[in-house]
Amino acid sequence: MGPLTDYHVHTPLCRHAEGTPAEFIDAAKRAGLVEIGFADHNPMLESFDDWRMNYDELPRYFDFVAEARASGFPVRLGLECDFIPGRESWIEKLAGMAQWDYLIGSVHYLASGWDVDNPKHLFRFTEDSIESIWDRYFDLFNQCIRSGLFDFVAHPDLPKKFGHRPKGDLRRYYEPAVQALRETDVAFEINTAGLRKPAKELYPAQEFLELAAQSGIPLVINSDSHSPAEIGAGFEVAAARAKEAGYCEVVRWKERQRIAVEL
Ligand code: ZN
Ligand code: FE
Ligand code: FE
Ligand code: ZN
Repeated sequence: MGPLTDYHVHTPLCRHAEGTPAEFIDAAKRAGLVEIGFADHNPMLESFDDWRMNYDELPRYFDFVAEARASGFPVRLGLECDFIPGRESWIEKLAGMAQWDYLIGSVHYLASGWDVDNPKHLFRFTEDSIESIWDRYFDLFNQCIRSGLFDFVAHPDLPKKFGHRPKGDLRRYYEPAVQALRETDVAFEINTAGLRKPAKELYPAQEFLELAAQSGIPLVINSDSHSPAEIGAGFEVAAARAKEAGYCEVVRWKERQRIAVEL
């Protein structure tokens, strides 16, 4: 396995993560990584939910990353942006506010006030609703890819987080997403957080990885860490699954320029 990076790392500014810049850098070194990239949840202009920094805290996020960079270890500046149809211009504004190395597009919100990965909305998953939840999610996920706002998209099959999967062959969801990625030259991540959730599986499923590999979609392996202890977690599994699917490269970014390196 070639040297890896971890580009999906949260900070305490999002109110549900912990760790100091120094602790994250130590963890990255201990995990044998060659770069770390912070990508906290993007602020909204108004108060929006209880799991992101406020807009006026954005300078503190830049300070956090600057402190990590002062260690001399390679640190990338990213942001995990919620894709919400109709609010694309806000992401465009954020994109101009810093020298980002990459922007991640994520779908968490299926509707106003309904974040699909939030346990407080678990009751919405019923035998009858799983299919329509996945339909809605992947419709938004494909819009997120095609928006052209993002360098890569996060946790492709997030609605499986609590173990809810529709019946039958799920490639009916994966194929349009992989096609959107191919048509737009957007990358996606293997997100190892799925291993730590009831889904007990990487995001995305192996069948998605296989389709993506066949289409040559650029891949990045990330932990979605919310603490230093999670940095690089599950990366051996992720790299092995990626190779099984046919991958021999992963990608990195600097100032939104993508480069491929050996996996
Ligand atoms: Zn989070
Ligand atoms: Fe996310
Ligand atoms: Fe995240
Ligand atoms: Zn995430």
